[in-house]
Amino acid sequence: MYVVFRCRKCGRYLYAEEGSKSRRCVCGHTNSLGKVAVIARVEEEIEAGELVRFLQQKSGKFQGFRPLG
Ligand SMILES: [Zn+2]
Repeated sequence: MYVVFRCRKCGRYLYAEEGSKSRRCVCGHTNSLGKVAVIARVEEEIEAGELVRFLQQKSGKFQGFRPLG
């Protein structure tokens, strides 16, 4: 199982293998998995990756993505 959560510092979406203790974000913050708010749990790492990508796009941040207009 993999857990999907947001970085407590910068708000990026991340995932980690369930049972691991911490996950370091690209912003440099180390998230203790005991403290983060878990958004979703999925079976496969590929699903976790897709979910993170989807959420990140939906948030419209961190992608350099610009809506038309
Ligand atoms: Zn972060």
